[in-house]
Amino acid sequence: MFLFPGYGMWLLLAIPGLLLGLYAQAKVKGAFNKYAKVPTSRRMTGAQVARELLNAQGLYDVQIERVEGRLSDHYDPRTRVLRLSPEVHDAPSVAAAGVAAHEMGHALQHASHYAPLGLRSALVPATQFGSQLAPMLFMGGLLLNIFLGGQLGLMVAWLGVILFAIAVLFTLVTLPVEFDASKRAKKLLVSQGILFQDEVEGVNKVLDAAALTYVAAAVAAIGQLLYYILLLSGRRD
Ligand SMILES: [Zn+2]
Repeated sequence: MFLFPGYGMWLLLAIPGLLLGLYAQAKVKGAFNKYAKVPTSRRMTGAQVARELLNAQGLYDVQIERVEGRLSDHYDPRTRVLRLSPEVHDAPSVAAAGVAAHEMGHALQHASHYAPLGLRSALVPATQFGSQLAPMLFMGGLLLNIFLGGQLGLMVAWLGVILFAIAVLFTLVTLPVEFDASKRAKKLLVSQGILFQDEVEGVNKVLDAAALTYVAAAVAAIGQLLYYILLLSGRRD
């Protein structure tokens, strides 16, 4: 096995994010499976919940589509379409109501020009480009520096770090976007009379677990960035 430089440090910085991520994913699955079996008293499917909440906010033109996959639910701001997975779209469960309302929260953020959502969307292209290229630049530059010495390798590696920092910023901007969507969802589910107060507990469990996955992604990304920075700052040209 090729032991890359400072792998002990990498383990120390990467393990917390990885473990938290695994824990959060297990929690999301557990909470979703549990509350997917609990029907709401009004027996509305996720699609019906989303439609009613969107209409109540005057967002008649936001479309709802059924999309294949598990927990693949999302709101697409480019086409203003809310895509719900079969288990959410078709099911009259507490879990489905929670996820549908959360995605509706993103549509609402979009319509009200919620700033963090705009920033997040603006960061998407740079993040996709950066997160693919950054590790290659970093490792390539580092190896160049190790085997040939000189400034060039270090400069290439630092360029990788800067690109990766954009991806880290993306995971951080995602946090207020996700927390806010869930906050709007919980509030509207009760105020619009879709769920009773005692049914919101299941929604809380599902959405809080989902939020934890985004926290884990941010922790993992920050750990990786710190690793890059610590590894490079110790090097001479
Ligand atoms: Zn979301």
